[in-house]
Amino acid sequence: MNSNPTEKIVYLTFDDGPSKNTELILDILKDNDVHATFFIISPYIEPHIKFVERAYKEGNAIGNHTADHEFQHIYTSEEAFFNNFEKQQKFIKETTGSDCTIFRFPGGSHNTIVANSRGKDFTKNITKKLNEQGINVYDWNVDSGDAKGNNIPAETLIQNVAKNIKDKEGNYKNPAIILMHDCMTKTTTVEALPGIIKLLKNEGYTFRTLK
Ligand SMILES: [Zn+2]
Repeated sequence: MNSNPTEKIVYLTFDDGPSKNTELILDILKDNDVHATFFIISPYIEPHIKFVERAYKEGNAIGNHTADHEFQHIYTSEEAFFNNFEKQQKFIKETTGSDCTIFRFPGGSHNTIVANSRGKDFTKNITKKLNEQGINVYDWNVDSGDAKGNNIPAETLIQNVAKNIKDKEGNYKNPAIILMHDCMTKTTTVEALPGIIKLLKNEGYTFRTLK
């Protein structure tokens, strides 16, 4: 995974897009000459499809985050899950022209709602099947905290990343996978992004996209 042991790798990830903020995020990424990974759902608004096209064209990675993200729908059964997953695979293929090979579970693979209702092996069994299809499943290890509410001050989000990028011993995580959200209500995530990128660059991280 990492041929140079001294190199620190970071993956910026944005869940739940595309949204009206996607373009703003793409502009910031471009200005800073870095790329990110977008785990997308089915666009609420059709014109947002062009943001997915742009993200892909500019060298960002597009991942599957299920088509509708509705827990009571996608986590009803394995069959329901795979129907929704396949629908989104098809959408991504149609939009980017490429087969999507990366996936993130809505709520993450360890989320307690699913574990409590379906058993802790539910996402584990699905992960095994996805891996067999050549799909890599990713969680995160650095939470920006932007899912905890709307309009959380940008400065707080930057501080969350600064804090969570270190493990309990105070060492920088490597690789670091940063969780952020690309949705209408998360305007402070957009505001925080330049500061987050600056912090990561100052710490010597190299930016990559998930594969
Ligand atoms: Zn999500």
